[in-house]
Amino acid sequence: MGNTMKAAVFDAIKSIKVREVPIPEIGDEDVLIKVKNTGICGTDWSIYNGWYSADKLPMIAGHEFSGVIARVGQHVKNLKEGDRVTADINMYCGHCYYCTQHNYLMCDQFTQLGIHTDGTYAEYVKAQAKLVHVLPDSLSFETGAFIEPVSCCIHAAKAVNARVGGSMAILGCGLGVLHARMAYLHSCAPIIVIGDNKHRLSIAKQMGADYIIDVNEEADPVAEVKKLTGGRGADYVIEAVGKISTYEQAFAMVRKGGTMSAFGITGENEVMQIRPFEFVLGEKKITGSCAGIADDWPDAIALLQYGHIDPKPLFSMKVPLEDLEWALHELRRDPNLFKIFVSPEISQREIM
Ligand SMILES: [Zn+2]
Ligand SMILES: [Zn+2]
Repeated sequence: MGNTMKAAVFDAIKSIKVREVPIPEIGDEDVLIKVKNTGICGTDWSIYNGWYSADKLPMIAGHEFSGVIARVGQHVKNLKEGDRVTADINMYCGHCYYCTQHNYLMCDQFTQLGIHTDGTYAEYVKAQAKLVHVLPDSLSFETGAFIEPVSCCIHAAKAVNARVGGSMAILGCGLGVLHARMAYLHSCAPIIVIGDNKHRLSIAKQMGADYIIDVNEEADPVAEVKKLTGGRGADYVIEAVGKISTYEQAFAMVRKGGTMSAFGITGENEVMQIRPFEFVLGEKKITGSCAGIADDWPDAIALLQYGHIDPKPLFSMKVPLEDLEWALHELRRDPNLFKIFVSPEISQREIM
């Protein structure tokens, strides 16, 4: 190993340059991981456009990843060179009020690998050993790079805590399709997924949705959900789009006493109108969900390892680092594409 590595550096807003940069130096409690795959996430698009983490540029993004341990810090006991791994991206101080409450996602000094610190669109990445998870032999490096989004959906599902037989409506057919799978695993019924893309909605069906609603054909998804739930609205609603208009629909389609899960991320300063009346007399509840952390990771690994979630229908393509910028745009242009992986180890695009 030399001293430098190839990385796709988010140089400035809307500019990614692949160039040689120093290999990260690791501390005693860290490991250096040789990156195999990184899944492109909506957050990367937000960083690229300067909507998120603009103050961190130039930086190396990338956070949904798998790799092999190349070097271990002096105090690291539980990991060794050659281990196939991924890592929990959520870093916390361990001392603040929230950390003492084990509410690490709310840590005063919360940061995420590849979002606030250098990430995995590179040949190597540094991670804290305590956040690393070893991949079961049966898990491919592609599926290994998909643990992070699954962990996020698991975190949201735990917060919603749906009951067996409860009705579930999901707005969005990005990670919405994984939420449909989680609802299926929770024995929810019916499961209704609302989206704008036929291909993705058909995957939602494969994942366990009982009904799919294409917003291009159905003007009033709120009325449709009510029709499918005895006129009441759904017991549980997950907003997985991140727009004010879909959040308004989510509030309107959750039944009295039901729970709405806020999952889709909107702009930081966007606001919506809410009628407090519905929360008082309607006893509606909201659960927030920031990321998958801690036990959400081994739980995600278990569901993938034993095939309770099969992510392969979501894998579209693998591209070299040099094509990251192209792929970010291609994902916007072609909504039939789902997950594109970026690998520093290949030189040509591979269809999956
Ligand atoms: Zn992500
Ligand atoms: Zn803290």
